[in-house]
Amino acid sequence: MAIKKPSKKKVCYFCENGRDPNYKNYEELRQFMTERARIKSRRQTNLCNRHQRLLALHIKRARQLGLLPYVVI
Ligand SMILES: [Zn+2]
Repeated sequence: MAIKKPSKKKVCYFCENGRDPNYKNYEELRQFMTERARIKSRRQTNLCNRHQRLLALHIKRARQLGLLPYVVI
């Protein structure tokens, strides 16, 4: 019998909260960025396909509005 690892169910943060990432909630988006203001990879964020894409989009939007930094030196 094959031993199956008990796979921990990864729940996407935004699916769990029932909303989508939005640039207006940039404080919330900040947690998906590294200290140097880079967007974390999907592996690090545990987000689903759809929300990871939306997240990147909204972080970029927030950057244009000056709400989030492009780079931290
Ligand atoms: Zn999701």
